[in-house]
Amino acid sequence: MTSSDSPDCLFCKIVAGEIPADVVESSDTAIAFRDIAPKAPVHVLVAPKEHYPDVPAFAASDPEGLASVIALADGVASELGDGQYRLIFNTGPKAGQTIFHVHAHLLAGGELPGFA
Ligand code: 5GP
Ligand code: ZN
Repeated sequence: MTSSDSPDCLFCKIVAGEIPADVVESSDTAIAFRDIAPKAPVHVLVAPKEHYPDVPAFAASDPEGLASVIALADGVASELGDGQYRLIFNTGPKAGQTIFHVHAHLLAGGELPGFA
């Protein structure tokens, strides 16, 4: 799905300004807003304004858009932290994806726990 306004999609509604969010930065094509339940001192979600369900669909259809999401995340990480960060795209319910509008979790601030 590549509509910029997918009905019933929470993040499309945030992009459209229909649901409030703590927006920290945006570009022509992407938006960065604070996660409602932060898991790190800096926990920002970075999403394209266009609706794609997950990162492989996004990358296949719009690789430049994916690069712009990463560039926006990198800028936010420098603005809100020291430019060191973790970027996570949960892909599929078993991986923890609950919102099917592609978004990167930008986690930063202090020491992040390592993976097992
Ligand atoms: P996922 O589990 O799909 O990778 O990530 C979804 C994220 O969206 C979760 O970390 C959750 O806390 C966050 N979230 C869910 N609802 C809202 C909301 O209404 N506003 C904001 N800012 N974040 C939300
Ligand atoms: Zn959407």
